[in-house]
Amino acid sequence: MIKFKNYVKAESLEEAYNLNQKKSSVIGAGMMWLKVQSRIKMTLVDLSGLGLDGIEETDEEFVIGAMCTLRQLEIHEGLNEYFPGLFKECTRSIVGVQFRNGATAGGSIFGRFGFSDILTCMLALDTYVELYKGGIIPLEEFCRQKFNRDILVRIRIKKDGRRALYASSRMTKTDFPLIACCVSATDETYYVSVGARPGKAELTVIKRKEASGLKELAELAADHFHYGTNQRGSGEYRKHLTEVYVKRLFMALEREEG
Ligand SMILES: Cc1cc2nc3c(=O)[nH]c(=O)nc-3n(C[C@H](O)[C@H](O)[C@H](O)COP(=O)(O)OP(=O)(O)OC[C@H]3O[C@@H](n4cnc5c(N)ncnc54)[C@H](O)[C@@H]3O)c2cc1C
Repeated sequence: MIKFKNYVKAESLEEAYNLNQKKSSVIGAGMMWLKVQSRIKMTLVDLSGLGLDGIEETDEEFVIGAMCTLRQLEIHEGLNEYFPGLFKECTRSIVGVQFRNGATAGGSIFGRFGFSDILTCMLALDTYVELYKGGIIPLEEFCRQKFNRDILVRIRIKKDGRRALYASSRMTKTDFPLIACCVSATDETYYVSVGARPGKAELTVIKRKEASGLKELAELAADHFHYGTNQRGSGEYRKHLTEVYVKRLFMALEREEG
């Protein structure tokens, strides 16, 4: 169990940021991941009083506060209307509703966990992270950065017209994913994100005309990633699953296009 000597409910991002510069401090969001750690930390910095728990929709983008829960993503009308079924599919297997009412979007993205369904999903969209000191940068760039002591304030998903679908494979219904795939499409391009390989999600961008059929395009996409072996499956199996799921998602998107 994780233990703290002090608890501070931050009154501003500046205060949270300053407190977090000490290695002995830790930012607390939904605490779902933190509480299964076994550590002693000096100060827990709570972001829950900073008004970061909403989803705002404008004509150009969805602005998701870091403290917004996974359940909010799952049931948000605007997100579900713009990306039909996507957020429901990428959240529904994460433990249970009670858990998703606690775990946050910010904790999921900042953590950059290999198994993250949320990271895999958002990486295939036109997504940016807003960092307190680091400014607004593409999610893909954030994934490549080393961990630092900045604070993730908001996640911004642009309404750029992409249509997107998600699929994952699990050994049991609510286990960590064995593989997670998200595909989005514009008229000429597919964006394919694959997570739980078991490394953290990465993105490849493929032009539709790069191969003659959807099977070949799916193989091309799957070839882009490195796959590893752990207790859930071998690298070879993960690659095979990626080809199958990506092809299915391409086909489903094509069906939607009519
Ligand atoms: C048993 C279990 C099963 C899970 N299964 C899945 C799964 O199948 N799929 C999936 O996608 N996820 C899964 N997760 C992960 C979960 O969905 C959340 O991603 C995770 O709990 C982190 O979110 P949180 O709000 O609890 O963050 P916390 O536990 O509070 O924080 C996690 C880390 O992020 C840091 N942090 C949090 N917010 C910020 C911020 N705004 N700025 C800077 N740093 C921040 C914290 O300091 C900490 O290091 C699982 C977690 C658990 C415990």
